[in-house]
Amino acid sequence: MPAGNENGSSNRRGSTTKKNAFCSFCRKSYRDVGPLVEGPGDVYICGDCIELCQSILEQEQRRRGSTKQLFNKIPTPREMVAHMDEYVIGQGSAKKVLSVAVHNHYKRLSIGWEGNSDVEIDKSNVMLIGPTGSGKTLLARTLARTLNVPFAIGDATTLTEAGYVGEDVENLLLKLLHAADFDVEAAQRGVVYIDEIDKIGKTSNNVSITRDVSGEGVQQALLKMLEGTVANVPPQGGRKHPEQQYIQIDTSNILFICGGTFVGIEDIIRRRLGRKTIGFGMESGRNEEGDLQEILPQVCTDDILEFGLIPELVGRMPISTALTPLDEAGLIQVLTEPKNALIKQFKSLFDMEDSEVVFTDDALKAIAHKAAEKGTGARGLRSIVESAMLDVMYELPDQPKNSRFVIDEKVINGESLFKMPETKSA
Ligand code: ADP
Repeated sequence: MPAGNENGSSNRRGSTTKKNAFCSFCRKSYRDVGPLVEGPGDVYICGDCIELCQSILEQEQRRRGSTKQLFNKIPTPREMVAHMDEYVIGQGSAKKVLSVAVHNHYKRLSIGWEGNSDVEIDKSNVMLIGPTGSGKTLLARTLARTLNVPFAIGDATTLTEAGYVGEDVENLLLKLLHAADFDVEAAQRGVVYIDEIDKIGKTSNNVSITRDVSGEGVQQALLKMLEGTVANVPPQGGRKHPEQQYIQIDTSNILFICGGTFVGIEDIIRRRLGRKTIGFGMESGRNEEGDLQEILPQVCTDDILEFGLIPELVGRMPISTALTPLDEAGLIQVLTEPKNALIKQFKSLFDMEDSEVVFTDDALKAIAHKAAEKGTGARGLRSIVESAMLDVMYELPDQPKNSRFVIDEKVINGESLFKMPETKSA
């Protein structure tokens, strides 16, 4: 807004320092927001509102000027799976289901852009079921990166704790808006991953649930967002209050991926399939991973309903797929194969010191074994490796260049300190 000062303090346009003036937009006083810009007829605006107006105008300009096309070409499911394969080990069926769902989702959006409204394709949010550390978040994140769309992660349990449901649900959208650099258009076709969706169930079947009353309320609030609504998002976050300015976000084209461990759902599946809970010849020395790997992929909507999510919410996530626990061989692959695998990261740290680190096969097995014992899937790998590597990382910068460090299972198990390095050429 131009600030003229031709008329002194009673100017028609300019800044004011009148102590009793207040912003005509947000109603905050000069004392709260500092200098105000004065317009004709006792109208004032504060810096915050100017910024907000600026971003609204920019959005509008972007909307008018944008090509409306998100991709030149929507990646095919096969292309998406190929990209996910670079980062995520195993989980073949989840990758396939997810890539088809996402491909169709963006196809649905492009029909909207091209103005062909004869056929309306319903939005299909996705539910991922699988144990901790099996790669649910990683899959959703990798997918968003493949598509180059904004991505945000939220946790369904925090929605319960806040008590004031509406506020927090919208804060998920605020995260998305941040990821999109406040480009509302981009945020409106982003991906939101909501973790721990199973923890807001209302049933007693889920042993981990202690709250009940609020569970359904949160589900209702989520339901609206998943269905598609225009949400008022407070740009600064926090609680909503009447004087606050909101950014409106239409959620109807946002893809929601919800994930949960659904502890105990395997028993529901087994019951449905007519299997015994502890069963099929595995009473002793039972291989739990193998069991889950067989049972979990057979999950269906009825099982999720029985688990305790309300039917409307389950109905909004018509696509569900299961991730299976990683066995020790899978954990070793996680350590070594993905593009940014942990072992590769350590190798490049050593490389930066012109040195080399070698993990023996037994060391890798020992790491995987420890992680499997922890029961947190691949999530436990990093802390095991980091703590085993502490001493060697401490020494590394002081060692001669061209050193070669060998990490064996004794180092991993804390039974011996790492051996001092040989020179690489030796
Ligand atoms: P979840 O959401 O299923 O609990 P995450 O996706 O958060 O698990 O996994 C935690 C970490 O473990 C990831 O950041 C990644 O490093 C690793 N990880 C888990 N599963 C896989 C997998 N299938 N392939 C590669 N890395 C994985």
